[in-house]
Amino acid sequence: MRAGTKTIDQGVLMPELSKRLGDYEASLIAELFAQALDLIEQGKDIVNLTTGEPDFATPDSACNAAIEAIHRGDTKYTNIDGTPSLKDAVRRKFKRDNNIDYSRLEIIAHSGAKPVIYQGLQAMIDPGDEVVVPTPCFASYPGMVAMLGGSPVYVACEESAGFKLSGKQLASAITPQTKVVILNSPNNPSGATYSRQELRALTDVLLDHPQVWILADDIYEHLTFDDAEFATVVEVEPRLKNRTLTVNGVSKAYAMTGWRIGYAGGPERLMNAIRKIISQTISNPSSIAQAAAVGALDGPQDSLAERCDIYQQRRDVVVERINAVPGLSCNKPEGAFYAFVNCADLIGRRTADGDLIETDLDLAGYFLNHSGVAVVPGSAFLASPYFRISLASPIDTVVEGCRRIGQAVSMLEVPLK
Ligand code: PMP
Repeated sequence: MRAGTKTIDQGVLMPELSKRLGDYEASLIAELFAQALDLIEQGKDIVNLTTGEPDFATPDSACNAAIEAIHRGDTKYTNIDGTPSLKDAVRRKFKRDNNIDYSRLEIIAHSGAKPVIYQGLQAMIDPGDEVVVPTPCFASYPGMVAMLGGSPVYVACEESAGFKLSGKQLASAITPQTKVVILNSPNNPSGATYSRQELRALTDVLLDHPQVWILADDIYEHLTFDDAEFATVVEVEPRLKNRTLTVNGVSKAYAMTGWRIGYAGGPERLMNAIRKIISQTISNPSSIAQAAAVGALDGPQDSLAERCDIYQQRRDVVVERINAVPGLSCNKPEGAFYAFVNCADLIGRRTADGDLIETDLDLAGYFLNHSGVAVVPGSAFLASPYFRISLASPIDTVVEGCRRIGQAVSMLEVPLK
């Protein structure tokens, strides 16, 4: 045994955990979510605005396809990277929505977008490689990069710039050690949605750095508001197709978070590497869920726009109510289903019990314990001081959540001048 590596648990010598986990922090969202669930279980009246999943039902086209698959006996192992029929449905989707042609060999389907991103990164980076992550960002990117021994390089996207990365910022973040740039539009948590022109500014920079992979996380593709139009890297700059992993999935668009199907298009060399990883680890996604995803992708698409309208109505109500609370402010998100609220003016204030609000994590804890409303602190997304409100709950719930937030803020002591 190496010196200094003893792990003693309750007086008993225990095997050590992997050193790779050293830098990895469990998701703050999951922690807060668990705390909120605990309170709900204790019978407390909690309005939960932390969730990242649609409150709608999975479309019939998906459910029926799954039932048919069961009756047909499609209940066995499939190709590790997805059935041919799912790959073809994904190819049709990429052609229809993004005007990108992928061959079957350029497609993989997996158990959610998250594993696709993780195994994509696994295939792209070695320990020490830099991964450019514009912030605020989806909380799992930093964790995944850290677990693979990579170094996340955070680039703060300012609220005044709509939380968007500029070409100039990207150019100065790329070094000879950069291996991957992660782009996520519409963005979780800010809702920032890059126009073609804004993406073009980034793709122009990326063209100058042929050693860099691009990971485009398009999971919120179908959730854009007002005039915002979705665009993706390869569609804007086809010359980047040979080094871009375009990730998407059915979780958000079709309210299928529990089915666990994500997919990606990318160059064959990269996809073969990912296949190698999948074949030795998780193997194929559920055969039944794959059939459901084919049903969703090939079925009627009208519900996408209808649901988007509903999220937009909720967004308008939330933005108006939050901006009416002194000390809080919120831009109108252009996409996804979150509002990202600036709470800088509340930092440094005290609760009626005399507790100091030093961080957005303190504020989220105060909201939960004082007013029974759960939000996610901006620190979970590497951007402070902010908090995220999910719009993926019925309108009455989000309205009540905003009321509670307003009430909690009104109970904070007024700072001394
Ligand atoms: N990317 C982003 C930006 C997300 O917000 C999420 C879900 N919260 C995912 C990926 C994961 O999607 P899936 O459920 O398909 O794993």
